[in-house]
Amino acid sequence: MLQITGTTKLLGVIGDPVEHSLSPLMHNRAIASLGVDYVYLPLPVKSADLKNAIAGFEAIGLVGFSITIPHKQTIIPLLSEISTVAQGVGAVNTVYRTDQGWIGTNTDIEGFITPLQGYNRDWTQTTVVILGCGGAARAVVVGCAQLGCTEIHVLGRNQEKLGKFQDSWINSDLAITIHTHAWEQLPELIGQANLLVNATPVGMYPNIEQSPVDQLAMARLPENAIAYDLIYTPNPTQFLLQAKERGAIAIDGLEMLVQQGAAAFKIWLGQTPPVDIMRHALQEKLGLLKT
Ligand code: NAP
Repeated sequence: MLQITGTTKLLGVIGDPVEHSLSPLMHNRAIASLGVDYVYLPLPVKSADLKNAIAGFEAIGLVGFSITIPHKQTIIPLLSEISTVAQGVGAVNTVYRTDQGWIGTNTDIEGFITPLQGYNRDWTQTTVVILGCGGAARAVVVGCAQLGCTEIHVLGRNQEKLGKFQDSWINSDLAITIHTHAWEQLPELIGQANLLVNATPVGMYPNIEQSPVDQLAMARLPENAIAYDLIYTPNPTQFLLQAKERGAIAIDGLEMLVQQGAAAFKIWLGQTPPVDIMRHALQEKLGLLKT
């Protein structure tokens, strides 16, 4: 049971909207289970109010906060320091306060790679194919580079956005080669994929019958490949069902969500997060617990 007192320390999530966020549930369950004197609040902040909101957080001594759409990039100039990983991704999802001011980092990378680390693979020999070239795809690229992957193929449906995505890595010091391709090249590339990542919203609730990959193309996926969908609802997605039918290993987005939250919690509280409790809270909320 969460007890809010006069000494309770504040955490939260900023965004517009934040009503849909599962983070308050996940973090408050973790806080309650550890019996620590914190509370995690939804903090709706419009873009025009972002600067004032950050100053207000400083004034009331907020310990730290998560950031969701649309502030992940626009918050960067308002912070004192940005971690190397967040600079690599070009987006911040976690902020914490120090004597030097607000520090921004990005725990999506750790969230993405933690489930993969359970598999014994030679990542240097792994060919990665990423579907989509938006914000999440950027975290996937940095995560794959951290794992040691050297070859990444990114597919997008918009040539201009693909070009900007490719150009954005020119000055990066990631030891990874990034190739961008038009969507039409998927059937050809999928045959080389040892790790296939869906970083598009295709197949997300309510469009649960959709998949970014058609059956014919999925039939080319190597049997021992890992298919990773960043979507966490539905669970599993059509994409993961197709991949499993093909004999691939399936990883869903729920674990990434849990692990990015756990990494942020550790930064704020300096304590080992109760990951099982956090996962259970989300599974319960999303109706994923087997009875
Ligand atoms: P984003 O920045 O909007 O990027 C989405 C990408 O998907 C863009 O490249 C977009 O292309 C592409 N796309 C959209 N619809 C498409 C379609 N019908 N066919 C082909 N490509 C399409 O979104 P994001 O933040 O990267 O998020 C992507 C997904 O990851 C979402 O489902 C999100 O919920 C999930 N996610 C999960 C976690 C987690 O913790 N599990 C974390 C972050 C994100 P255009 O630019 O051409 O539209």
